Amino acid sequence: MQVRFKCSANHHRLAEYFFSTKVAPDESTREGSTSSPDSRAFMVLYTVAVMNCLFCKIIEGSIPSIEVYQDDQCYAFGDIDPKAPVHVLIVPREHIASLADAGEHHPALLGHLLWTAAKIARDKGLSKGYRTVINTGRDAGQSVDHIHVHLLGGRRLAWPPG
Ligand code: AMP
Ligand code: ZN
Repeated sequence: MQVRFKCSANHHRLAEYFFSTKVAPDESTREGSTSSPDSRAFMVLYTVAVMNCLFCKIIEGSIPSIEVYQDDQCYAFGDIDPKAPVHVLIVPREHIASLADAGEHHPALLGHLLWTAAKIARDKGLSKGYRTVINTGRDAGQSVDHIHVHLLGGRRLAWPPG
C-alpha cells in the first residue's frame, strides 16, 4: 500500500524510521510505503500530536514567537513568561513529547539541543553561569508536551529548585 504524506524536513527521519523507506530531506511531498497497521497508526497519531502542539505551531510560524536561534534541527525562542532576564526555550523541529519519549535514534539530537543552549548562552554573554532545565512529566511541571530545554540566566539562581 502506498501512502502519500506531506511532511516538513524535520519529520523525514521519523518517516524513515517508521516506514523503513529512504526519504529525501529536500522534498516537500514524500512517499512512503507503510509496512504494517502499526506504522499507519503511528502516522495518524503523530499527525494529530503535531496538529495539536503549541511548539510545533511556533516552529512552523502559525503562532508568533521571538526568535533567538534556528538551524535545521532546532528552533529557539524567548519564553512568554520569563523566569530570569534570559529565558530561552530550545526545541527540536521534530515533535518528541518529552525526554521520556526520546528513542534510541535521538541521542545526537538531544546533544544538539544542549550544544545550542551553550551557544546561545555564550552569544548572550552569560559568562557568570546559567542553568539548563528539561521538565519531564506532570510532577516536574512540564506544561507543553514537546520536549524543550529551558536556558535561564542573567541572575543568581537558587538551588535546589522547588
Ligand atoms: P514547561 O512548563 O517546562 O513545559 O515549559 C513550558 C514553557 O513554555 C513555560 O515556561 C511557558 O512560559 C512557555 N510558553 C507557553 N506558551 C508560550 C508561547 N506561546 N511562547 C513562548 N513560550 C511559551
Ligand atoms: Zn510538537
